[in-house]
Amino acid sequence: MPSIKLFETVGHQNILLEDFGRGMAVQANQHLIVHNGEAILLDPGGHKVYSKVLSETFAQLGKARLTNLFFSHQDPDIVAAANGWLMTTDATGWAPSLWIRFIPHFGLDNLVADRLKPIPDSGMVLDMAGCKLMFIPAHFLHSPGNCQVYDPVSKILYSGDLGASLGIDYQEVKDFDAHLKFMTGFHTRYMTSNSAMRAWVQMVRQLDIAMIAPQHGALFRGKPMVERFMAWCENLKCGVDLLPKGGWQLPG
Ligand code: FE
Repeated sequence: MPSIKLFETVGHQNILLEDFGRGMAVQANQHLIVHNGEAILLDPGGHKVYSKVLSETFAQLGKARLTNLFFSHQDPDIVAAANGWLMTTDATGWAPSLWIRFIPHFGLDNLVADRLKPIPDSGMVLDMAGCKLMFIPAHFLHSPGNCQVYDPVSKILYSGDLGASLGIDYQEVKDFDAHLKFMTGFHTRYMTSNSAMRAWVQMVRQLDIAMIAPQHGALFRGKPMVERFMAWCENLKCGVDLLPKGGWQLPG
């Protein structure tokens, strides 16, 4: 499928890159935000998709420059190709401070290691050519150091693994109830706890959100669908909420 413009206005574009994931690797979405000649690529992915994402990114950039890379957390489907991206561009990489000393184990060259910058635990605002992108904390959803991106121009919240769905062949959620079976297993296991979910919902309800775009699977468009997703998160028991009573059993 071709790359899709999720939003476009004068001097600003939000582009969902074509899905390059194949075979055993989990399907992943790559997102590009272009604003006044600069661009940021979100969760660029691992080695299997690197060369295709790179060529598609440059095809989409036109005359804009890739100035920033965002890594929501430390998983291989997010950061494994970080070295390639930093070597082939002048972009600054941003990753949660908790992971700054772990990501170099994927093989960051000394020449580029100092271009990977920490996002403080409390989040930050990145001024990209006048667009005030918010890197917001969403810790424990699922990684203990995990951030999301809110773009105030398009009003898209890029939610990383939160909202991910697996095994679907559509790009946008039309029927929330029918969609649940593709999200529930992932969230009950990968998300840490209902208290982390509630902390996130309480924070993002303060934002004006037109769309939630996860890193895997389908996106949630429009306020009613966004609200349905947030209400579902608010009430979901997950992670340590579901620890077996009496503890784990030894195998065998
Ligand atoms: Fe992950």
